[in-house]
Amino acid sequence: MKKGKAYIIGAGPGDFDLLTLKAKKIIENADCIIYDRLINQDILKLTKKDAELIYLGKENTEGGETQKKINETLIEKCLLGKNVARVKGGDPFVFGRGGEEIDSLIEKEIYFEVIPGITSSISVPAYSGIPVTHRGLSRSFHVFTGHTMENGKWHNFGVIAKLEGTLIFLMGIKNLEIIINDLVKNGKDKNTPVAIIEKGATKNQRVTVGNLENIVGKAKEIKIVPPAIIIIGEVVKQREKYKWFEEAQKISKKILVTRDEKQAKDFSKKINLKGGQASELSFIKIEECSFDEKEIKKYKAILFNSANGVRAFFKNIKDVRVLAGIKIGAVGVKTKEVLEENKIVPDFMPEKYLVDVLAKEAVNFTEEGDKILIVTSDISPCDAEIYTKEYKRIYEKKVLYKTIKLKVNKKMVEEKLEESEIITFLSSSTVEAFVESIEGDMELLKNKKIASIGPVTTKTLEKFGIKVDYEAKKFIADGILEEIFR
Ligand code: SAH
Repeated sequence: MKKGKAYIIGAGPGDFDLLTLKAKKIIENADCIIYDRLINQDILKLTKKDAELIYLGKENTEGGETQKKINETLIEKCLLGKNVARVKGGDPFVFGRGGEEIDSLIEKEIYFEVIPGITSSISVPAYSGIPVTHRGLSRSFHVFTGHTMENGKWHNFGVIAKLEGTLIFLMGIKNLEIIINDLVKNGKDKNTPVAIIEKGATKNQRVTVGNLENIVGKAKEIKIVPPAIIIIGEVVKQREKYKWFEEAQKISKKILVTRDEKQAKDFSKKINLKGGQASELSFIKIEECSFDEKEIKKYKAILFNSANGVRAFFKNIKDVRVLAGIKIGAVGVKTKEVLEENKIVPDFMPEKYLVDVLAKEAVNFTEEGDKILIVTSDISPCDAEIYTKEYKRIYEKKVLYKTIKLKVNKKMVEEKLEESEIITFLSSSTVEAFVESIEGDMELLKNKKIASIGPVTTKTLEKFGIKVDYEAKKFIADGILEEIFR
């Protein structure tokens, strides 16, 4: 069997967008992903549907056992012919043990590539407004591991304490006191500024600033936890002026997206582009149904009232020519967009985003007695019988996707709500699933702002006593954003 190839990838420090384009391309195509705890978990959403995801994390200290397991797994999967993305936090060669993995691949004659990543050692300081070098302050920077005392060996602090550049320690929290004491003992000025940055480049980033004399006390007091970086030198002072990340976070709106997982991504992207911070927790799931393509021929018009309907419909179509001569009606911009992705330009689109209006408009494109198909969901308000009576055509409704309400763990909802200011609801079923998940505990929504996609969803929210702060004027996802970012 042909062996697969291994890609040793650095994923950057924590902010998803710091992943390189090359890493993204490889992760999207890999058959197997082996990842560790430091990577942004959203990266895993890039993978192919059938990709195998394997978590193998070294919990900071006892790397030995796990590293052996990582090497073995890497080899095993490549020998099975799989292309494997080994994804690590930061850069694979900066305390990432990338070299050991490569040694074991070479031994088995497995091809590999290395995709460098943005190392936390410089990017985490950057996210806290600390440049590792700065004209007039620091002409070099030096990166150390703070934890290995392999065979009892420790760094030569006699030399380190005399370096004039910036000192950066990774994995140094456990030994913070020893590091600081050794520097001072060897002559480093006690007033030298120090910063400790926890969970850098993530929304939980926390920065503690002090000097060599007081930093240990401060770290104990506020209970600093890994992953964290210690940075020592005059450059730390620049933070006061340069701390851009926290400032940007302060003014950007934190918005919770509750719609189904597939559509959530697109919505989150739009929120982030507008300068907000999206996080996701889905309360519904869209399940698509199938039908026989041959049934289509008997209809003179097909009406779509949602993008989901279009997607589900085209999954069942093998040859788009079955639609030849059939008039197509659509409600909503997104529905039109997805139709166009499938190379169909709708013949008519009512101005009002209502399926009733769509059904009425179909009259102008058909003759008496014609059959008209409405592609819709199980909870759509459309009533084919009423249209049939009113418009002298035979309307038939086909349910092509179902909305399944999810019961999300209450604790999980609480955590998400804690970090959100605005909660968005794009359908009544999402509202119902949300209320069920929080077990009716409306206290959780205290001080939160609520955004609704339109009057129907608003009505459902109000039924549960939830006050709506933003209601979209256009009843689409973009309409909500227009109100929030007005
Ligand atoms: N290869 C990685 C480093 C792995 S060693 C890189 O190039 O960044 C693990 C250490 O990296 C942690 O103990 C911590 O010191 C540092 N680290 C990684 N990500 C971090 C983050 N987001 N915030 C703070 N420190 C981080």
